[in-house]
Amino acid sequence: MRIAIVGGGPAGVISAIELSKNGHEVFILEKNDRILKKLLATGNGRCNYTNEVVKVENYNCKDNFVEYALNLFTKEDLINYFKIMGIEPVVENKGKIFPVTLKANTVVNTFLNEIEENNIEVFTENEVLSIDKKNNFILKTNSGKFTADRVIFAVGGSSMPSSGSDGKSYKVLEKLGHTKTDIFPALTQIKLDSQYLKSVSGVKVVGKVKLFDDNVLLDERYGDLLFTTYGISGPPILDISRMINEKNKKLRIEIPLVNNVEDIEDFKNTLYTRFYTLNYFSLERWLMGIVDKKFVNMILKEVGLDKETPMNLIEEYKFEIIVNKLLKFKFDVIGTKGFENSQVTCGGISTSEINEQTMESKIIKGIYIIGEVMDVDGDCGGYNLQWAFSSGITAAKSILQEF
Ligand SMILES: Cc1cc2nc3c(=O)[nH]c(=O)nc-3n(C[C@H](O)[C@H](O)[C@H](O)COP(=O)(O)OP(=O)(O)OC[C@H]3O[C@@H](n4cnc5c(N)ncnc54)[C@H](O)[C@@H]3O)c2cc1C
Repeated sequence: MRIAIVGGGPAGVISAIELSKNGHEVFILEKNDRILKKLLATGNGRCNYTNEVVKVENYNCKDNFVEYALNLFTKEDLINYFKIMGIEPVVENKGKIFPVTLKANTVVNTFLNEIEENNIEVFTENEVLSIDKKNNFILKTNSGKFTADRVIFAVGGSSMPSSGSDGKSYKVLEKLGHTKTDIFPALTQIKLDSQYLKSVSGVKVVGKVKLFDDNVLLDERYGDLLFTTYGISGPPILDISRMINEKNKKLRIEIPLVNNVEDIEDFKNTLYTRFYTLNYFSLERWLMGIVDKKFVNMILKEVGLDKETPMNLIEEYKFEIIVNKLLKFKFDVIGTKGFENSQVTCGGISTSEINEQTMESKIIKGIYIIGEVMDVDGDCGGYNLQWAFSSGITAAKSILQEF
């Protein structure tokens, strides 16, 4: 069998290797001048390729679409696959798994070796513009024509367009009758509208961030948060960013300014105790003991009190406002940092048109669709690469079963 892989990302590359190892003639068509460009940027250049805990709930998809493939090629299988290629794993915070070198180029170079050893032809600077089905498949690129018996379509989504996956390639499948759901960026930083951003930029806080549309709670996540000049970033922010789309209009986030508050009601008691016992402090001194100095100025401005105000002159109703600011500071959301800065794309080719057990298109037999191009996106923490690899192996195994 002659098999064309469209797109040299992790999904395409793993399926190419699996098929080639099992005797098929495989070639990769890649629009860039090299393959695996995005993989090099993953995990801040360290490649968080899976997680200690991988569940269906870590994915946004219809009808548990990912379940079969994640069971067919599990995180243990992926860790083992990497070990067999010579890459040892290391677990970091929250179960994230990286190569022990903590370098994505270890993974990229290893895959490049595997491609060479398995004689997989890579045609770079070949952007597939259309696919026609006659007796076999004819793939037209900007540089020529290729034929194949089977096609694996692995062009990625729209995130980080500079890596090659810029969203243009959905059209190739749309022309063949596939449907694309609405797409929007996910796992990206959030832009806020606030006069205080300049002054609090660079401040870190650990806590639970809540996202509201009007007053409806859309999502809440706990973890490290970082204020920036445009808004806010950090793993919990990346995870909730997928909710910021056109459907949700009046978005606000709520953040505790005090570190590590797990139980707000409980911490309120601590604040009231401080209010009564440290009543000889100035407001500034009282605040300095619990929050970053940059937050102190922000709170003073918000409540309209002078920093020298003695605590015992602050009325209870006013203190309640201070408590609210400390534990539930609210910011208006104006959007995300967009596809340029997002790690994954929500939406894509509809999974109702893909067989979940084979990744074969239900519209055109012989075309397999894998990785981020489809309407599947995972949480931050190694889940999107696990999906690229699991779906890639699933497609390859299905072709291997057939031939
Ligand atoms: C900055 C960043 C950090 C990330 N970090 C992590 C992480 O640590 N862990 C994690 O799990 N996920 C991470 N992700 C997400 C993860 O990288 C992607 O989900 C994954 O790479 C998707 O794999 P893919 O093979 O489907 O697509 P891609 O990796 O996007 O590869 C698609 C390839 O297809 C090529 N292509 C596109 N159109 C055509 C065409 N018409 N013809 C030929 N070639 C084409 C592209 O040039 C590209 O090389 C990160 C993403 C980014 C942007």
